[in-house]
Amino acid sequence: MSNPSLLILPGDGIGPEVMAEVSKVIQWLGDKRGMKFDVSEDLVGGCAYDKHGVPLHDDTMAKAQEVDAVLLGAVGGPKYDNLDFSVKPERGLLRLRKEMDLFANLRPAQCFDALADFSSLKKDVVAGLDIMIVRELTSGVYFGEPRGIFEEGNERVGINTQRYTESEIDRVARSAFELAMKRNRKLCSMEKANVMESGILWREVVTEVGKDYPDVELSHMYADAGAMQLTRWPKQFDVIVTDNLFGDLLSDLAAMLTGSLGMLPSASLGSPMENGRPKALYEPVHGSAPDIAGQGKANPIACILSFAMALRYSFDAGNEAERLEQAVNAVLADGLRTADLLGEEGVQPVSTSEMGDAIVAKL
Ligand code: ATP
Ligand code: MG
Repeated sequence: MSNPSLLILPGDGIGPEVMAEVSKVIQWLGDKRGMKFDVSEDLVGGCAYDKHGVPLHDDTMAKAQEVDAVLLGAVGGPKYDNLDFSVKPERGLLRLRKEMDLFANLRPAQCFDALADFSSLKKDVVAGLDIMIVRELTSGVYFGEPRGIFEEGNERVGINTQRYTESEIDRVARSAFELAMKRNRKLCSMEKANVMESGILWREVVTEVGKDYPDVELSHMYADAGAMQLTRWPKQFDVIVTDNLFGDLLSDLAAMLTGSLGMLPSASLGSPMENGRPKALYEPVHGSAPDIAGQGKANPIACILSFAMALRYSFDAGNEAERLEQAVNAVLADGLRTADLLGEEGVQPVSTSEMGDAIVAKL
C-alpha cells in the first residue's frame, strides 16, 4: 500500500514559520515510528498570487482534491490589502473550502494543564477540559436566500434567511456522530427549536441520524442555554454539533476558555472519499500575524496540534496524535513559553524553532 498523502500549504506571514516546526514532527514520525507520508508542498494566498497572479492555482486545487489531507498555515498580509477582491489571498482558502465541500468545521477547546491559569475562568472549571465543537460551515443564515438590503415602503430592510435542508443537517450530524464514536460517545446538539423552524427540523434530523449510532448518548440543548452552560461548566460536554451561526459564536467562546490564539487548531471535513476517509483541511485558527512575521516569535503549537488532528481524523493514528499532544503538554509543564503565552514577568520567551525542537525532543 502507498503511504498516506499530505499536501502542505504554508501560505503567508508566520504560516511558513510554524509549518517548518510541523515538518520536524513529520520527519520524526518517519525516522522513529516508521510512519512515512507522501508530502508535497505548494503555494496558497499572497505567495501564490505573487507567482501565478491567483491566490490558488488550478493545479494546487486539483492536488488538494486527491490527497488524504491538506495542512494549511495562514494566508494574507498588508502587502495584499489593496488587491482586487477576486484575487485576495483569503479567496484561495475560500476556494479550497468550497470546492472540497468542507461542511463540518471542527474546533476543539482543549486546556493544557500548565496553561489553566491563563483562562479567564476559574482554574477548576477549565483544567483538563477537552471538548469539540462541530460547526456546519456551508449553509444556514450566511448563505440562505433571499438575502440583501431591499426597499420596503419608505425605508430599507436588511434580510438574511436561515435555511437548512434535511440532507445538509444529515451529513454534518453524521460527521459529529462519527467523531463522537472516536471520542467519548457523547454528543449534544444545539439549536433554537423553541423559536426557529430550522431548529425544529435540525432536532428531528439529528435525532433520526442518532438511530444509526445507538452507542452515542445524544442530548439536545437550546443554543442560548448552551452558551451559558459552556461558561458555567464546560466539562459536561464532549462533542457539540450546531449550525453555522450558532457555531460561529459558540466555537469562539469555547476556544477562548483555554487561552491564546497561538494554541488553537482546527479541521474542516467533507464527505467520505473512496477510501472511507473524509476530505479534510487542517489549519491553525490564527491568521498570518503580520505584526510578528519573520521574527521567530510565532507560537507553532496551533499548527502542530492541527497536524495532530490530521493524525487522528485522516490517518487513523490516534495514538501518535495523543503522543504529540502529550509532548506539547510536557514542554508547557517545563515552563517553555513563546511570547504570546507570557503573562508572568521574568520568564524569557523561546523562539518558534526552539519550541518546535523542544516538542520533538519530548517525543
Ligand atoms: P486574519 O484576518 O488572517 O485572521 P488577524 O489579524 O485577524 O488575521 P492573526 O493574524 O491571527 O489575526 O493575529 C492576531 C494577533 O494574534 C496578532 O497580534 C498576532 O501577532 C497574534 N498571533 C496570532 N497567531 C499567533 C501565533 N501563532 N503566535 C503568536 N502570536 C500570534
Ligand atoms: Mg482574524
